[in-house]
Amino acid sequence: MPKLDPTTDEFRAAGHRLIDWIGDYFERIDDYPVLPHVQPGDVERRFDAAPVADGKPYDALLREFEEKIIPGVTHWNHPSFFAYFAITGSQAGVLGELLSAGLNLNGMVWKTSPSVTELETVTLRWLRDALGLPDNLFGIINDTASINSFLALAAAREAAGLDVRRRGLSGLPPLKIYCSEHAHSSIEKAAIALGLGIDGAVKIASDDRYRMRADLLEQAIARDRAAGAVPIAVAATVGTTSTGSIDPLPEIGPLAAREKLWLHVDASYAGPAGIVPELRWIWEGIEHADSITLNPHKWLFTPVDCSVLYTRNPHALRSAFALGEVPPYLTLTDTAEINYMDFGLQLGRRFRALKLWMILEHYGIERLRGVIRDHVAMAARLAEEIGKRDDLELLAPQMLSLVVFRKKGGDEETMAAFERLNATGELFVSNTRLRGRLGIRVAIGNGATEWRHVARILDLA
Ligand code: PLP
Repeated sequence: MPKLDPTTDEFRAAGHRLIDWIGDYFERIDDYPVLPHVQPGDVERRFDAAPVADGKPYDALLREFEEKIIPGVTHWNHPSFFAYFAITGSQAGVLGELLSAGLNLNGMVWKTSPSVTELETVTLRWLRDALGLPDNLFGIINDTASINSFLALAAAREAAGLDVRRRGLSGLPPLKIYCSEHAHSSIEKAAIALGLGIDGAVKIASDDRYRMRADLLEQAIARDRAAGAVPIAVAATVGTTSTGSIDPLPEIGPLAAREKLWLHVDASYAGPAGIVPELRWIWEGIEHADSITLNPHKWLFTPVDCSVLYTRNPHALRSAFALGEVPPYLTLTDTAEINYMDFGLQLGRRFRALKLWMILEHYGIERLRGVIRDHVAMAARLAEEIGKRDDLELLAPQMLSLVVFRKKGGDEETMAAFERLNATGELFVSNTRLRGRLGIRVAIGNGATEWRHVARILDLA
């Protein structure tokens, strides 16, 4: 009988080499171009039509990895990666992933591996407290904020008492979710997946600082109710994708409560900033939130993927997804047996808490705070330098580690500067359009970024 892995000899030898490879990569990351110089199909063409019949040694694979795969890689771990949300992994995170892969655990229910469930409970309690969030929140880790917003809004639909879980949507009036015009597209996707349709995600206009206008939200809810629709939730954003703007929870929260609507808060980018005490103003009004999603894989040095969903109403989440009867009296304490499969769509679950635990414990809260503080300070300095320039201007107020600016000359010059910046390969920025005007968007979030990396934007813009 052939064995898949007859011994661990090759594994050990290759494993040591791979750790060295990753160590070298982290040390020399500055030497890589952030953006690859490839055309669509270039990477695919390098591979044969089918895998080999007889296996190759790991040495050969590592060579092919360097020759065929690395040239097509966009280096998200690069300190000059400023596009999207500049998410970064970390050495502790990589080691956590490695251990998790070695164990290959599946935490569908508590019994399938108690440590998977209980470490998730512990790390999410630690994280909740470290972020300065209310202590009545139950947490679960899923892959992305998109999925977490979908799950939260499914809980909202359940909490609306329409018995959709049993009866489906047929015969019901249109259901509505409200979000700002700057909300992430995942809210719209959630509305599609929940059977509300795109029209079920109502976009509310924003104010001059790109924040949802609570007065227009109130009007939209009244208008929809008068037309026979059923509002079920408000999805506010703490840290919008384009500008990092923060919807006014102190106004939206009481309004949602008065209207008996679930308040979901998408804090997937900005949430980790709460780890820094002087940045906790981002949470003003968060006590009104029924659910909050935030991504350690965006701004807490956790390798993709790791997104957290907190809710103060785990019963609604459980009612939306658990199989069988859900006892309404069930209290979820940290010591109760939790079967996380009951709180979402998927059955199988990766051991994501392991890397989060490694990160929280290896770096410690103070070091994590220090790095996030630096990111915000570098963004503030960039905004200040832009303010001093005759040819550049901010297009939105600097928020946390995010800066959006433009050439004063207008869109054409801004586009030329944007293309010039990225064409160097030295750094990577993204762009956005605000009230019709093009902006260059700089998100700082890498654990190795220094001011000299950021300063190149000013040199090249
Ligand atoms: N919400 C906001 C505000 C975002 O900026 C993003 C992505 O950038 C998302 C949600 C989606 O995150 P994910 O990729 O984890 O689904």
